[in-house]
Amino acid sequence: MDLSLSESELAFQAEARAWLAANVPAEPLPSMDTEAGWKAHQEWEARLAEARWAVVSWPREYHGREASLVEWVVFEEEYYRAGAPGRVSQNGIFLLAPIIFDHGTREQQDRFLPSMATGEQVWAQCWSEPEAGSDLASLRSTARRDEARGGWVLNGQKTWSSRASFAHWGFGLFRSDPEAQRHAGLTYFLFPLDADGITVRPIAQLDGEAGFAEVFFEDVFVPDSDVLGAPGDGWRVAMSTAGNERGLSLRSPGRFCAAADRLVDLYRSTVADGATPAATETAPAHVVDAWLRAQSYRLYTWGTVTRLAAGGDMGTAGSVNKVFWSELDIALHETALDLLGADAEVESRWLDGYTFSLSGPIYAGTNEIQRNIVAERILGLPREPKGAGR
Ligand SMILES: Cc1cc2nc3c(=O)[nH]c(=O)nc-3n(C[C@H](O)[C@H](O)[C@H](O)COP(=O)(O)OP(=O)(O)OC[C@H]3O[C@@H](n4cnc5c(N)ncnc54)[C@H](O)[C@@H]3O)c2cc1C
Repeated sequence: MDLSLSESELAFQAEARAWLAANVPAEPLPSMDTEAGWKAHQEWEARLAEARWAVVSWPREYHGREASLVEWVVFEEEYYRAGAPGRVSQNGIFLLAPIIFDHGTREQQDRFLPSMATGEQVWAQCWSEPEAGSDLASLRSTARRDEARGGWVLNGQKTWSSRASFAHWGFGLFRSDPEAQRHAGLTYFLFPLDADGITVRPIAQLDGEAGFAEVFFEDVFVPDSDVLGAPGDGWRVAMSTAGNERGLSLRSPGRFCAAADRLVDLYRSTVADGATPAATETAPAHVVDAWLRAQSYRLYTWGTVTRLAAGGDMGTAGSVNKVFWSELDIALHETALDLLGADAEVESRWLDGYTFSLSGPIYAGTNEIQRNIVAERILGLPREPKGAGR
């Protein structure tokens, strides 16, 4: 693994660093789960896009700069090091766009990608249903063919759709062939969330803000032009880029390394402030441990990037990464709260980060399921007995 950057990569890094230093808002933006915060985040996305930093790896015609994978990781590191805002467009950019690039028609690419890049249209992922989370293939929402109108009629309910409370469009799987079993007979649809027959009902999360929503579909018409990939092929389409190197499965280490550095700073300042003896006794070991784990994650990711850049594939990185980063995120925040002691109650950044870190082992595929994958597919351990776990 070669960790030294080429001259052009160093120039790219310097350009990103300079732009971020000049443009990252001095004060954190309000939460994107509030109306004001949503607007502020959309404005930030527009600013990023204008300077071609919103989607660095995309083609130029869609506001990108055709950056390589190495440059993408470099940019992410700089982004988090600079303390830049969370990405309100991330579901679209990281989860949907790779699929539109691989399976969308040229017309769909031209219609959807530019407004996604600028943050003008923000997308919500509508996959989970009340009885279909880990076992996504058991979903019950249906799509009925409407030959006369040239499209499909959607019915059913989705849940836990992040950002759907304010988002403009959604993407989701529906059962289009009632006879087909499980993974067969599913179709991938795109739909505006203000379409006739769609009701979006916000769900308050732990902090009281509407970070999620339930989405109800009652005879919602979707034209053929908004089907992604072939009808009935939705599962393969959805999973084909699940291991995509630019997707969340290769979660950039930048955010954890930046948090680890902030943790070290926090330790220095709390010790200087005369933290409680109980906290200081064990804290150094926890701080060092969390910092080392963040560095390990960085090196592991660079190993994967080097392999991908040389034409290899993701290999086992996806599931291993998922368990590792989600547990690392909790450890980083728990250690910070221990250092803060009672002050944690009033220090919002670490506290907010902590409550969010608790969801890491659940979203993007629960850690129990990831451990099953590691056990069965990577380590070759016996398969889980049928019916276990649920
Ligand atoms: C912060 C956050 C954001 C989210 N955003 C979105 C979003 O934008 N769009 C969307 O569609 N969904 C989203 N989700 C939903 C998420 O994808 C689901 O919560 C997740 O897939 C788990 O599904 P479930 O909640 O139905 O739990 P279940 O599948 O019912 O699982 C419950 C528990 O049982 C365990 N379990 C289940 N099966 C097995 C097994 N075979 N072996 C061992 N253990 C098992 C699970 O690991 C889990 O601990 C989000 C969730 C969170 C927390």
